[in-house]
Amino acid sequence: MGRLYIQHLSGEKIFKCRFCRVDSASHDDISSNEFRGRYGLAYLMTRVVNISIGPEEQRHLSSGLHTVNDIYCSSCQQLLGWRYEKAYEESEKYKEGMYVLEKERTLRDGW
Ligand SMILES: [Zn+2]
Repeated sequence: MGRLYIQHLSGEKIFKCRFCRVDSASHDDISSNEFRGRYGLAYLMTRVVNISIGPEEQRHLSSGLHTVNDIYCSSCQQLLGWRYEKAYEESEKYKEGMYVLEKERTLRDGW
């Protein structure tokens, strides 16, 4: 087994994993900050780093049926949100490849 590679993000506004404090995402990559996750409010992100991706699942969300993968912190394995693999409604297609990051599971360090 190799050593876990942790990517460090540059910039002043970085979201970190609430549990182990590795970098998760940059404020610059927020697509929406009024999104609903499983634990309440969430961010819709174009990029999240230091994650491992769970198996594909069909999930009924408030916006309809989607194929999603849960995302986990690659350092501590805590659930952070999910990734949209596929949307079936035309109006939801823009979410494909984007990530939902649960506010409750992220930390804003020093900002
Ligand atoms: Zn973590």
